[in-house]
Amino acid sequence: MGDKLYKKCLRCNRKLKTIKAQKRGYGDHCWKEHKKEVKQNSGLFNLSLINKK
Ligand SMILES: [Zn+2]
Repeated sequence: MGDKLYKKCLRCNRKLKTIKAQKRGYGDHCWKEHKKEVKQNSGLFNLSLINKK
């Protein structure tokens, strides 16, 4: 208990089947894509967080 589990993928909104994916919030494919995007857009990502608040 204590671990937050996601029922749906945060990226494509599909159901997550495995505990591993549910803990991450992303399916295997989307997790890979997500990591790529964070790497590529790390500068932009930080800016968008600042602009939101
Ligand atoms: Zn997904």
